[in-house]
Amino acid sequence: MNTTFGEKLRRFGVQTYFEYTQSGHWKTFVAKYHKHGCRACGEPGFVQLHHVSYDRLGREKPSDVIALCPNCHEKVHRILRKCYPNLSLDQQVKHSMHVLGLTQRTKANKKRRHKKKTRSATSRR
Ligand SMILES: [Zn+2]
Ligand SMILES: [Zn+2]
Repeated sequence: MNTTFGEKLRRFGVQTYFEYTQSGHWKTFVAKYHKHGCRACGEPGFVQLHHVSYDRLGREKPSDVIALCPNCHEKVHRILRKCYPNLSLDQQVKHSMHVLGLTQRTKANKKRRHKKKTRSATSRR
């Protein structure tokens, strides 16, 4: 039931994750995402796919991955390692959506603060 990451790779027929990313399956999968650009910063062009879950390695659903530019991808992994140092990679990535929220927080905060300002201006004191 509890298949390790390595076992999943071997089941797919490769030894390492790098080998996996070089496979035809993966390249075809990633190619579909290049036109959408980075989900975090909106940068168009080349993206890498970040796994939110490795559960379906080799037969991923679109919801298992997030397209990120190399910069944001690196950032997400850095935050994951920092926030969840005791979790293995396949456990860490399950927190990806939360971490992605952190990388976008600056923008969201600005919006929220703006809203609050307009609301307090119209509300009774
Ligand atoms: Zn990006
Ligand atoms: Zn990743």
